[in-house]
Amino acid sequence: MKPPVFVEDIESLLGNRGFSKLWVCPLCGRFSTLNWHGFIYGYDDDAEVDIRAARLFCSDRRKSNPGCGGCFCIRLSRQVPLHTVCASALWRLLVSWLHRESVHQAWLEVRTGFSVESAYRWVKQLSHFQARLRELLLPLRAPPKSKQTDALKGLLEHLQDAFESQRAIQTFQMHFQFGWFK
Ligand SMILES: [Zn+2]
Repeated sequence: MKPPVFVEDIESLLGNRGFSKLWVCPLCGRFSTLNWHGFIYGYDDDAEVDIRAARLFCSDRRKSNPGCGGCFCIRLSRQVPLHTVCASALWRLLVSWLHRESVHQAWLEVRTGFSVESAYRWVKQLSHFQARLRELLLPLRAPPKSKQTDALKGLLEHLQDAFESQRAIQTFQMHFQFGWFK
């Protein structure tokens, strides 16, 4: 059994600690080599410092059944991997952009607490991520009829339709166990 890439909340993260001996390392495929290796902290939605992820270490220090020595993370689905912005704030910005002329207008409306340059960068990253996103979404649900002329906005409508959620990025990460922007 492989460990999860994303879990819903901190309780689930802590609740998984008893299972690590039953998991195979996602890096080398060896069984029962994983040790919990602390937490990664960052700001949550309320600007409080909280756990973002747990780090696991595939121990190469044992004589019998050594692992690969690699590290990986189990993340909370409300976090966007390698980004400070949380999934809900990013989604609010993208939904706003769906109905606005420009990223700048969406940024003015949503006020994520991040710079306008960050907002433009996230849309650019979405553009790089779109092929993978489309590939994952298509088997799940056909794209809805859209009046969008911008393909990227059409894709966001597809995501909105597939998950019918205010938390589409979070739901996406939980459903596919795959990181946004990856
Ligand atoms: Zn390993």
